[in-house]
Amino acid sequence: MNDPNCLFCRIAKGELPADVVLETPDLVAFRDIDPQAPTHVLIIPREHVPSLELLDEAHAGLVGRMHLAARDLARREKLAHGWRVVTNVGADAGQSVFHLHTHLLGGRAMRWPPG
Ligand code: AMP
Repeated sequence: MNDPNCLFCRIAKGELPADVVLETPDLVAFRDIDPQAPTHVLIIPREHVPSLELLDEAHAGLVGRMHLAARDLARREKLAHGWRVVTNVGADAGQSVFHLHTHLLGGRAMRWPPG
């Protein structure tokens, strides 16, 4: 299922351009258009799920594969000194695109706590 008005659904379908770095049967990963670190990749499911808030048990494998994809991409990008995965959920967290995505960030030292 996807939403024809959703930016990330359209990227996943190849209708809009993106710098795609990984495609699997249920995931697509592409570089963030406004990178916040030397490596900043977004990992999304092909299925339109608006937010982590709306996941259910049936998505457990999908979420696991999103994290394994992040790990594989971190290795490919040679982020041997560390990396971070972030999923923003809702307005207070700054979620701006309502299609589930995991940010993979790396290539610089990170601060904690995040802003
Ligand atoms: P979030 O704020 O957590 O919802 O993250 C959405 C991310 O999508 C932001 O980091 C944006 O820079 C990124 N973004 C928005 N439009 C595009 C696009 N067309 N291609 C790649 N990344 C995008």
